[in-house]
Amino acid sequence: MKRSLFLALLPIIGLGLYAAKVKSMSEADLVQANLPKIEKPKKKHQILCFSKPYGFRHNSIEIGETMLRVMGEETGLFEVTFSNDLVHFEPENITKFDAICFNNNTHIQKGMKDEALRESLISYVKKGGGIFAIHSATDGGWPEYVDMIGGNFQSHPWGAGGTWDIANEDSKHPIVKDVHGGKGFQLKDELYVYKDFDRADQRVLMALDMNSEVNGKRKGPRDDKDYALAWVKKYGKGRVFVSAFGHNKEVFYNPEILKMWVEGFRYVLGEIDVETNSIPKPAFNLPK
Ligand SMILES: [Zn+2]
Repeated sequence: MKRSLFLALLPIIGLGLYAAKVKSMSEADLVQANLPKIEKPKKKHQILCFSKPYGFRHNSIEIGETMLRVMGEETGLFEVTFSNDLVHFEPENITKFDAICFNNNTHIQKGMKDEALRESLISYVKKGGGIFAIHSATDGGWPEYVDMIGGNFQSHPWGAGGTWDIANEDSKHPIVKDVHGGKGFQLKDELYVYKDFDRADQRVLMALDMNSEVNGKRKGPRDDKDYALAWVKKYGKGRVFVSAFGHNKEVFYNPEILKMWVEGFRYVLGEIDVETNSIPKPAFNLPK
């Protein structure tokens, strides 16, 4: 090969090598490489990861578990018990955990039918337990569960194959201030639209940017166009963090989303205190 041709091809060869390297990295390696560094936690917390879907099964469930395991190991924030056994929700067992991560567990109401188990979960949170809800953890539930989460899946007009504009609405909030430097960004993921959602009940951190051209090509069902995608709330003494993101696998090792999720866990586990009072929808993101 002529030297000049080789030089011309170098960027392409480089790109190919980079792509091959990324491809050869395991999902755990990708999570590890992209996690933010945090200060030493006050303690190592115990988390239950529950991933059983009783409706649609996401194929990102496994990488969700990988993400949690690696995040716990790397940050020292928590140790995870991975189990889909409902026995962990019984009153004498649930208090072993500082928080529960609901990892894409669609339609929990169809599995957790027992009234006593439901009450056990709700009272655990009201007394100070933490909830970290990923994507379809917000799809379904009985009325108290939906109230605790702060919304219920309605539809996803902004689907998994699209790249959408996200408004970083509360850009100085500790959980999202470092995500893309507190600015808006684009993400390829399936974005949920919620019913039984009222911004007055929680602190919305991120939302669909409804001034965006690409987002505007789709139509959602809400008259107020308030399409929140991440929020925090208090539920009794409990702490709840919700992420509508988490359909596509790549989201689970996206360095910017990981920043938000690590801080979300720090809040849920009581490592940091953050504002959870509701704020009005910022003017920049008001419907046109
Ligand atoms: Zn989904």
